[in-house]
Amino acid sequence: MEKIKPCPFCGGEAEVIYLEKLHSFRPHCKKIGCILWYPIWDIETKEEAIGEWNIRAI
Ligand SMILES: [Zn+2]
Repeated sequence: MEKIKPCPFCGGEAEVIYLEKLHSFRPHCKKIGCILWYPIWDIETKEEAIGEWNIRAI
């Protein structure tokens, strides 16, 4: 699995969480106050969520 890149805004650690209600994975920054949600819907796998984040984290 691809490794998730740091947050593009604060350089902090990022992670992928699973939103049960939406049945979807979301990548976001772990730092409080820097919650960055990308408006991506229907991410069905953790790998895909990491990929989407990494594209934008450059
Ligand atoms: Zn951040």
